Amino acid sequence: MSGVAEKLKTIVGEGNILTEQDEVITYSKDYTYDSLPLVSPHPCEGCIVAKVKSVEEIAEIMKYANQEKISVVPRGAGTGVVAAAISQKPGIIIALEKMNKIIEVDDDNLMITCECGVPLHEIITRMNEHPTLYFPMHPGDEGAHVGGMVSTNAGGVNAVKYGVMRDQVKGMEVVLPTGEIIQLGGNMGKLMKNNAGYDLMNLIIGSEGTLGIVTKATMKLYPKPKASGTLIISFANRREALSAVPKILEKGIIPVALEYVEKHQIRKTAQDLGKTWPAKQGNADLIVILAEDSVDNLHNKSIEIEDICSEFEMLDAIITDSPSKQRDILEIRSHIYPSIEKEVADLLDTTVPRSKIVDFIDEIDRLSEYYQTEIPVLSHAGDGNVHVFPLKQEGILPEYHEEMITKIYQKTIELGGTITGEHGIGSLRVNKLSMQFSGKELELMRNIKSVFDPNDILNPGKKIV
Ligand SMILES: Cc1cc2nc3c(=O)[nH]c(=O)nc-3n(C[C@H](O)[C@H](O)[C@H](O)COP(=O)(O)OP(=O)(O)OC[C@H]3O[C@@H](n4cnc5c(N)ncnc54)[C@H](O)[C@@H]3O)c2cc1C
Repeated sequence: MSGVAEKLKTIVGEGNILTEQDEVITYSKDYTYDSLPLVSPHPCEGCIVAKVKSVEEIAEIMKYANQEKISVVPRGAGTGVVAAAISQKPGIIIALEKMNKIIEVDDDNLMITCECGVPLHEIITRMNEHPTLYFPMHPGDEGAHVGGMVSTNAGGVNAVKYGVMRDQVKGMEVVLPTGEIIQLGGNMGKLMKNNAGYDLMNLIIGSEGTLGIVTKATMKLYPKPKASGTLIISFANRREALSAVPKILEKGIIPVALEYVEKHQIRKTAQDLGKTWPAKQGNADLIVILAEDSVDNLHNKSIEIEDICSEFEMLDAIITDSPSKQRDILEIRSHIYPSIEKEVADLLDTTVPRSKIVDFIDEIDRLSEYYQTEIPVLSHAGDGNVHVFPLKQEGILPEYHEEMITKIYQKTIELGGTITGEHGIGSLRVNKLSMQFSGKELELMRNIKSVFDPNDILNPGKKIV
């Protein structure tokens, strides 16, 4: 690879190249490397990191790599949870962290344009200073970059009201695997309607760095809500709690987040944090976060939700608009995964139609009994996304692991669901794609990949093989 390093130096400068394995490793792993080591593939050796500063540098690297058929992995913040940014072929890792400018906040069009390496927390900080507008996307790790969020079509808890990244992105600049630079979505995407041609932008969104390198993106902003409140509603059992979810939405109440948690799990998590979960009754809780344009609306919607839930044998409802109490509730909810992280072997993010969540979690309970193991779950119930956490057994991957997750995916698909709602396929789920798609569908996807990337050099082995 010494010839490659020399060439890269001429493009990005000597100071922007890393070749030593102990430095390269930082850029060739994602979240799974340290946190899910039993299922995560090991990053290969022999990669060179190029820290790029401009779209032109990326284009030049891609032209060279395509000509020489060298594999390239685009890398954001490495917070991905499906090993999509883990390099498995010696080649070039393009680190995008230096392309970190917020280019424009456009108040008139309610849009923000960022370079790909802007971390989410920078957007949050910038928009906190804005008097009226904000960016609502919040996948769990605020270190995630704009390019990574676009390329994984990230979701998060606020998706019920605002949707996922695909619903935010209105334009982008992309470097193709063959090195050409293209603009998608019109003039950096200030258009709210655009029906011209095939929708290439939506192919790039969620393509996990396999079709192009996103260098800039323009995304929607929203008016800041004026009043926010959180409800914890307790039910005797899961079926009652989850049956209330579609009824809340059917009434036209669209919360920012609508989460389902199992009482024993959230109570234990609160204890781990030295706190107390305020809702004492029942076995199943819904956490509903509302963001409204007036205090009156917040009040009225809270009452309406309570009324709906009382038709489903609600046992108790706690309603608060106190910022500190709301922060406390969210902190405990957000700590469920960290509190079990050390025991978790794998992290599934299956999604089923909302009305099927209860059948899906019942199946998880059956599998838990069959394999004699606890299988913690929590659900973004407002959008059908269920996080399932298969555990280790005495620190190792149990021999039934693969069989068990295959059964979980079979049930997901039987219920009309998908094997991933937000995390993506990466390399961890690529061998499960054929469970969800027909041969023809997979063939179309492979053909799309080869039109964009005829030499299969951009993030090979991820998303589709
Ligand atoms: C604690 C925690 C909680 C999380 N919670 C959520 C959640 O609630 N919802 C959710 O959706 N995700 C969640 N994630 C996953 C992760 O944060 C998202 O997938 C995020 O979008 C990844 O962004 P990144 O910049 O870290 O991308 P990386 O991990 O660096 O890369 C991910 C993929 O995108 C590609 N890529 C990166 N940048 C570019 C680019 N500019 N152009 C083309 N391809 C690129 C990479 O090649 C790779 O395939 C969570 C992760 C953690 C650690």
